[in-house]
Amino acid sequence: MQSIDMTEIAAWLAAISVVLLLLMNVGIVAWRILRRAHAAARIRRRLALFPERNPQPVLSVSFDGQVRYANPAARMLVTRLHPDATVDRLLPSDLSAHITALLNTGQSDSHWEYLYQASVLQCSVHCMEDLGVCHVYLKDMTAQHAAETLLGHHTLHDMLTGLPNQRAFNERLAATLADGAPAAVLLLHLDRFRALMETLGHTSGETLLSAVAKRLTGMMTRTPGGAVHRFEGALFAVFCPRLTDAASLADLAAQVKMLMLPAFHIDGRELYFSLSMGASRAPEDGSDAATLLRCADTALQHVKREGGDGFQSYVPALDAQSVERLELEHALTHSAARGELTLRYQPQIRVGDGRMIGVEALVRWRHPTRGEIPLGEFIPLAESSGAIVTIGEWVLRTACERAQAWQAAGLPPITIAVNLSPRQFRSSNLVQQVKTSLQQSGLDARWLEIEITESAAMHDIEQAAATLDRLKALGVQLALDDFGTGHSALAWLRRFPVDKLKLDQSFVRTMEQDSANAAIVRAVVALGRELGLVVLAEGVEDAGQLAMLRAMRCDQLQGYLFSKPLTEAQMLEWLAALPPQNATPVVKKRGEIYEHPTARVHPLRS
Ligand code: C2E
Ligand code: MG
Ligand code: MG
Repeated sequence: MQSIDMTEIAAWLAAISVVLLLLMNVGIVAWRILRRAHAAARIRRRLALFPERNPQPVLSVSFDGQVRYANPAARMLVTRLHPDATVDRLLPSDLSAHITALLNTGQSDSHWEYLYQASVLQCSVHCMEDLGVCHVYLKDMTAQHAAETLLGHHTLHDMLTGLPNQRAFNERLAATLADGAPAAVLLLHLDRFRALMETLGHTSGETLLSAVAKRLTGMMTRTPGGAVHRFEGALFAVFCPRLTDAASLADLAAQVKMLMLPAFHIDGRELYFSLSMGASRAPEDGSDAATLLRCADTALQHVKREGGDGFQSYVPALDAQSVERLELEHALTHSAARGELTLRYQPQIRVGDGRMIGVEALVRWRHPTRGEIPLGEFIPLAESSGAIVTIGEWVLRTACERAQAWQAAGLPPITIAVNLSPRQFRSSNLVQQVKTSLQQSGLDARWLEIEITESAAMHDIEQAAATLDRLKALGVQLALDDFGTGHSALAWLRRFPVDKLKLDQSFVRTMEQDSANAAIVRAVVALGRELGLVVLAEGVEDAGQLAMLRAMRCDQLQGYLFSKPLTEAQMLEWLAALPPQNATPVVKKRGEIYEHPTARVHPLRS
């Protein structure tokens, strides 16, 4: 028997072990390779989904511009914008040029925007030179561009009127001035805008602003180089790069004034408005935008203080005036509390028997250092600063107190007339103020006469009629002051429960020389008679005027011929000298003559 060679067996076993070990290692490596390949395939599949799922268009194109791949978003976009087109229609016409430029410069990315039909598309190209393809990413920028344009418009335009705004104005003005070119600024502010907002509300205010903007824009299209802007509130500005001489600016202001003459139809009402205008010029008044605007505003504020409805070019003297006015305004606010106000009383005469039947209370202000300030100076200032409300309250209260005190002293009762400024007339607590003054003084309402100017009444006829009705209901008498100088909408007179027309002194002053004015006086007296109203002629200074007014059968007179405004002591001498009481106010109802039961019949009516 052949013996078993143990050495050989051991050699075999060792060989088999090595082979097995090798096989095992090969298996492990193969398993690892397979696992990696599987993972890579999964990653590739996932990556392939990226462009597929991307909501933005993604395309792969060869260097010569041929589309190799387009994702669903690209296919959808082309279908939306151009139903019959293929995706290559989406690509910008200059794509090949961009790719060539990238390849030539060794760069890989490029971004630009292009128009595709009505859309703005953004194209981003990424070139992979080794793969011989470019990836193209498209993005629809249309909505973003529209939003940007809109935002840009809003930052430079006023939303309400669509006019360019103050920022646009400043930019244009600054650009013009930077070039050293001449320029002019015209600021326009709507008079009585706040009153409109207070009475008719915000919506009516906006309607008015839009209407004014429309009129101004219409006019500027005929004015070379003029452009209207709206600042805030009721402030507009005209930028005039060409109308830079003073005369042209004044002409422009005159045209704007004409433009405002026709009525505005707001909220079913016919309303009239005017503009206050201030102008400045470069280089005369300043060479930067801020200075020019400040100068134009100073001029504008001057017009406002003068009562509005006017035009002023900037002059340096206005600055000094502004400071002085500020000080005066401040002093005026405290004038009533500091006891600086007094009343003068101007007699009103009945033509029939020459009897003083009333007095008009006229306020005076004695400034602590400047002495008596002319009324024409401080009433408009009080009106614009709002101090008129306190002053008016003081006048009303004092007039009622004094009239009641005279009656209590046994003097013959007379009517006391009190003037209301337009602002007072519009104030919401006016009626309550009058009521309180009457109650606190104890004066019978029939002895108080409230004077409002014709223009204040005609500004907003509906509102004025309502306020006058409420005042009338208190039992006071109502007079239209300075009659003939306002809008003279005579047809509306019937709507007002007024008792008296105070014919403005400008007609009386010239009636002897000017037959046209004499005719007006005669017509107003006839109108008063027709409507059952007392007519008082203001400013009667000589016997000739008296004779004419008497012949025309005017009812009452007031003027220097009889007396200047008197101190209380002087007036009381008049009153004490009157024969015993035999007259009460002639109280009328519309269209008829109604005498108080104890009244003596009015001589001119009997
Ligand atoms: P008005 O209400 O028309 O008052 C009449 C003005 O004419 C008074 O001037 C008076 O002195 C003046 N006058 C009277 N007769 C004659 C005359 O024969 N010839 C001339 N040349 N003038 C005459 P005054 O006192 O300077 O008042 C001016 C205006 O100031 C008043 O005009 C009135 O609108 C306003 N005013 C006066 N007092 C007050 C007040 O207490 N409150 C308000 N809101 N306004 C007032
Ligand atoms: Mg008056
Ligand atoms: Mg008057």
